Amino acid sequence: DVVKVPQGATVAELADLLDIPASDIVKRLFLLGTPLTMTQSMSDELIELVADDLGREVKVMTKEEENSFTFYDDPADLLPRAPVVTVMGHVDHGKTSTLDAIRHTGVAEGEAGGITQHIGASQVKINGRTITFVDTPGHETFTAMRARGAKVTDIVVLVVAADDGVMPQTIESINHAKAAGVPIVVAVNKIDRDDANPDRVRQELTEYGVIPEEWGGENMFVNISAKKNMGIDELLETILLQADVLELKANPNTFASGYVLEAKLDRGRGSVATLLVNRGTLHVGDALVAGMSYGRVRAMLGQNGQPVTEAGPSDPVEILGLSSVPAAGDEFRVFQDERDARDLAESRSLKARIEEQNKVKHVTLENLFDTM
Ligand code: GDP
Ligand code: MG
Repeated sequence: DVVKVPQGATVAELADLLDIPASDIVKRLFLLGTPLTMTQSMSDELIELVADDLGREVKVMTKEEENSFTFYDDPADLLPRAPVVTVMGHVDHGKTSTLDAIRHTGVAEGEAGGITQHIGASQVKINGRTITFVDTPGHETFTAMRARGAKVTDIVVLVVAADDGVMPQTIESINHAKAAGVPIVVAVNKIDRDDANPDRVRQELTEYGVIPEEWGGENMFVNISAKKNMGIDELLETILLQADVLELKANPNTFASGYVLEAKLDRGRGSVATLLVNRGTLHVGDALVAGMSYGRVRAMLGQNGQPVTEAGPSDPVEILGLSSVPAAGDEFRVFQDERDARDLAESRSLKARIEEQNKVKHVTLENLFDTM
C-alpha cells in the first residue's frame, strides 16, 4: 500500500500518515544523522529515506498533485444527487427547442425557477426530483472539458430529428459520449412532421452502436416534438430512469469541489464564473481556487439570477469574487485557508508563465539558427 504524503510534511504529520508513534521517526532520523523535532518539516528525500527504512512505501505529493487527489468519501456519507445532463445533436435537430420545452414543463409543474437562462445551466423538477441541464453548446463544452479531464455530465440526451435522421454531428455526439463513458438517451424529435420517420432513426443509429432497449440494446429512446410539446414529460421520466441505473451519489457535507462551466469578465461585477458543484457544499464566503484564479465567494446567484447562500452536489451556481477569469473545464476546490488557495493559484500561474517563456525562447533560438 502506497501512502500519499504531502510535500513538506512534518515529522508528526508523517508519523500520523504512517500510523506509528512520532518518536519512532525521530529516533530513526537521529540514527540517520539528521536530528529533527516533531514539528520540523522534512525534505522529499528524507521522507522517502525514513519510509524505506521502515519498510513502507510512500509517494510524496506536490501541492499540484495533492489538488488532483481523487477525494475519498466514506460510503455512509454519500447521498443521492441529481443527474447532470447535456443535450447534444446535429445543428437544427432541435437542441435549443428541446431545452426550452423542458424548462417550460418544469415551470408549468408549478416549481420555482427555470424560465430564463441566466447562467448557462438550469435545473428542472419532475415528480419531486431534480435534473440539472448544462446549457452551453454540447460539442464545445465536451471538447474543452474533456481536454482538462473534467467530468461534468452523467447523461447525454442525443436529439435526432425524425425527418433528417443521423447526420455528421449526431455521430460526433455519439463519439463524445462513448469516449467519456456517458450513457445516451435518444430523443427522436420533430415527430409532428408529416415526413417524420422515427423508426428509420432507430435503424440508422444501430450502425453506431446506439440500440434501443426494445431491440435488445442499452439505450432508452423517446419520441418527442419539442415544438408541439409532445413527449417531454416522458423524456424527463426516462432521464430519471437512466439516472436510477447510475445510482448517482455524492457527499454534500464537506468542502465543495467541482468544475467551471463558463466564466467571463463583467464590467461591473468583475470575474463571473458558473460552477457546477460535484461534491460538498459551496457557501458564500468560502475560499476557493479555480484553475489559476482564487478568491472568496463574494456572492452566489442561482439559475434565475436570484441570490443563493449555498450550492450542493449537482447544483450549478454563478459566483463573484475570483481574482481572474478561469477557463471552462477548470477544476475548482474550496480550501479551509484562503492562503492555500492563493498559493496554489499562484504556483499554477507561475508554472504556466515559465512554460510559456520556455516555448517562446525555444522557438526563437531555433528560428535564429535556421536562418544563420
Ligand atoms: P438546434 O440547432 O439543435 O438548437 O435546433 P433548434 O432548437 O434551434 O431548432 C431548429 C429548427 O427546428 C427551428 O426552426 C425549430 O422551430 C424547429 N423545430 C425544433 N423542434 C421541432 C419539432 O419538434 N417539430 C418541428 N416541426 N420543428 C421543430
Ligand atoms: Mg441551438
